[in-house]
Amino acid sequence: MKILKFGGTSVGTPQRMKDVSELISDGQQKIVVLSAMSGTTNTLVEIADYYKKGNVEAAGNVINKLRMIYMEHARELYSTEDMVLKTIDFLKDEFMYLHSFASVEFSEVVERTILAQGEIISTNMVTNYLKEQGKKVSLIPALDYMRLADNGEPDLGYINSHLRDILNSQESCDIYITQGFICRNHLGDIDNLQRGGSDYTACLIGAALHASEIQIWTDIDGMHNNDPRIVDNTLPVRQLNFEEAAELAYFGAKILHPTCIQPARYASVPVRLLNTMDPTAPGTIINNEMVPGHIKAVAAKDNISVIKIVSSRMLLATGFLRKVFEIFETYNTCIDMVTTSEVGISLSIDNTSRIVPILEELKKYGVVEIENNMCIICVVGDLRFDNVGLETLATEALAQIPVRMISYGGSNHNISFLVREADKKAALQALSAKLFN
Ligand code: ADP
Ligand code: ASP
Ligand code: MG
Repeated sequence: MKILKFGGTSVGTPQRMKDVSELISDGQQKIVVLSAMSGTTNTLVEIADYYKKGNVEAAGNVINKLRMIYMEHARELYSTEDMVLKTIDFLKDEFMYLHSFASVEFSEVVERTILAQGEIISTNMVTNYLKEQGKKVSLIPALDYMRLADNGEPDLGYINSHLRDILNSQESCDIYITQGFICRNHLGDIDNLQRGGSDYTACLIGAALHASEIQIWTDIDGMHNNDPRIVDNTLPVRQLNFEEAAELAYFGAKILHPTCIQPARYASVPVRLLNTMDPTAPGTIINNEMVPGHIKAVAAKDNISVIKIVSSRMLLATGFLRKVFEIFETYNTCIDMVTTSEVGISLSIDNTSRIVPILEELKKYGVVEIENNMCIICVVGDLRFDNVGLETLATEALAQIPVRMISYGGSNHNISFLVREADKKAALQALSAKLFN
């Protein structure tokens, strides 16, 4: 069985929903993961934000605007009056539900419940369309099987057993539709897999069911060798190793959710990135193969802070690094890059929500400095140490850019540079010019 995920743009208009429906109606059994229509989750964030601020009137106005758009979509999507009316009834309930939070005390659960409605709406609309077209289709609610464990990570055992139970309990269908992004936490409250999380849903399902392939359908023909939003003339990369793809996703290639490749890699299920706007384009295949001898792609992650701890006394003392890392562990803050010298250590983080106590504690061990607005540039490919020259090439490309940190040798697949966010565009352009032209 294959798992196909279609992102927000792929289901962004009634016509796109029709195109996707045709694409998935090839008679082969599949699970289809859908995002909310493009823009909807952002609008839901806005609604939740107004509720949070106590501005019920503004929330109501935004809800009504969104409601009108969806009512028009319903009239455009279906050809039978029956299905138009059925869907309009469903949408009325949905938008009344969104209005109902006006009289409820705001909480994080309320916020996440509001955010979940985009995927609930899009999946119901597409399922109704497929039914109208006479397809054998079933809607499986993600809230019945997609779950986080108490550490906030997907609960693989729960997902696996509940998803299988649901599929086994119903008559076999050609197309199973389900929501991306949304889930429940260990308490059973509605939660989500973070923005862009529908990719993660698809990969978790693919891994749980040992699918033959996971397909991520989006608005571009696969992973490009650099960020197409920033650099001109980027080109698709036809094949990536799981680890290369995981690095690119984690370090900013927006086409993939940062951690979605992990489950696919552990289960060895290939992931194919495909273009809904050009379905015959080859896209990118992500699998276990390692094509040697090349740098494949570059990505960039913003909003990085770098912390330097200088302590001539302490660094070489046994246990110094442990103490530093323990502070970050205590405050649940991930470290991305690390460099050390005899007198100091620099490390980068992307989450500064606990920075005040972290800095307080670090000051016990040395002189501490922090710089914000930095950016990690990650260069991915065959960067084994005995494959000479490629790391030099990447470094040469950045000859004119002030580089704050370099990390190389942590894996066979990447070299990372920390630069100022203000230099990101120039750095990405210089790398493309040197590495891919
Ligand atoms: P979806 O809504 O389908 O999940 P996203 O907007 O999340 O789509 O991801 C697709 C977008 O990712 C592309 O339109 C492109 O602008 C952006 N992107 C950033 N880096 C890359 C890259 N290296 N290769 C391809 N697309 C990228
Ligand atoms: N709709 C969610 C978002 O916009 C999840 C996704 O599209 O992947 O982030
Ligand atoms: Mg996405």
